[in-house]
Amino acid sequence: MSSADYAIETRNLTKTFKGFTAVDDVSLKVERGTIHALIGPNGAGKSTMFNLITKFLEPTTGTILLNGKDITSQKPAQIARKGAVRSFQISSVFPHLTLLENIRVALQRRMHNSYHFWKPESRLDVLNDDARTILTQVGLEDSESVLATELPYGRKRLLELATTLALEPKVMLLDEPMAGMGTGDVQRVADIIRRVAKGRTVLMVEHNLSVVADLSDTITVLQLGAVLAEGSYDEVSQNREVRSAYMGE
Ligand code: ADP
Ligand code: MG
Repeated sequence: MSSADYAIETRNLTKTFKGFTAVDDVSLKVERGTIHALIGPNGAGKSTMFNLITKFLEPTTGTILLNGKDITSQKPAQIARKGAVRSFQISSVFPHLTLLENIRVALQRRMHNSYHFWKPESRLDVLNDDARTILTQVGLEDSESVLATELPYGRKRLLELATTLALEPKVMLLDEPMAGMGTGDVQRVADIIRRVAKGRTVLMVEHNLSVVADLSDTITVLQLGAVLAEGSYDEVSQNREVRSAYMGE
């Protein structure tokens, strides 16, 4: 496989904070069209990896490629325009707007940098139709007139996912999408992720191992900033180092 087959690739990526190495020489390949999970104990460097890939942080050394193109020197907004969008742990929701309005804002944000303003898709009725389609994708179609602030926690996270979808990401980075959710919501979000992952690439940090086993094509295990193991769930869960380091055996 060549670099162009990978939606995301990092080469020898390292990030140090005042001499502390949070990400240590990580070479990660995320194949296009797959769901790839990044797992590891707290402090392993998972969120730092996301911050580096989306350029919210500057790498100390190493290279980041998106669809085979070097994006190491690009800015977060440029990377988002190339279709790599991060959801969760970033609040993209306006509490005092309704769900429909929130999605409309996200749709308009996507169109902002082009001449879409003059095109039919910027008309209010068209925007509303598109927004409703997205709310339906995450199962929030019955709440379009509810204010975001009135949503219970689990549904607020679904709204965040919906605002991400409105940006039409080709590559979605989901940082702990199920964090803090009850069992029923976890299953719902897993189903939604599986559905919206079709035709896209998903890189996901998730602690719930049964969800990871269920959803992921490939898993990379990080420990102390470095790759400990990589492969299918069966492969990494058989790995002795993973069992002792991560699963406490
Ligand atoms: P994870 O998401 O896997 O739990 P993080 O990527 O958040 O881990 O953090 C990895 C390590 O880097 C931790 O030890 C954390 O304390 C440290 N770290 C993360 N961000 C910073 C920062 N901005 N400044 C200093 N240390 C940081
Ligand atoms: Mg984290």
